[in-house]
Amino acid sequence: MSELPAPEPVTTLETEPFWRATAEGRLVLPRCDSCGTVIWYPRRFCPECHRSSISWFEASGQGTVYSFTVVRQAPEPWRKVVPYVIAQVELDEGPRVLTNIVGCDPGDVTIGQPVEVVFDRSASGHGIPRFRPRP
Ligand SMILES: [Zn+2]
Repeated sequence: MSELPAPEPVTTLETEPFWRATAEGRLVLPRCDSCGTVIWYPRRFCPECHRSSISWFEASGQGTVYSFTVVRQAPEPWRKVVPYVIAQVELDEGPRVLTNIVGCDPGDVTIGQPVEVVFDRSASGHGIPRFRPRP
């Protein structure tokens, strides 16, 4: 999708369901079965009520740019893709995720901009979630 490097994610017991879904082109999030809190980052216990019963659900893949910066100098392998955007995207389900904005000129990114998820593929087939402007 984008020209950005797609490093291999490090999967753990807590993040394995997330990466399995992204490999299928789906964005999923964990939600507490007790209090309904949508949890990000994935972990074994709900950060609100501390219970450990958590279920995964399919997210909309939509959100808005909460904050961002344009990277103009970077080490390899990122050097060849500058300038690029690192952003916090607030998902429609609530959590804010650290990601990249792709599919537009970095100068066109704005706070509050509606965006949707796209997936870049790592060498082993994992989906790296990034976001592009919504039409
Ligand atoms: Zn909870």
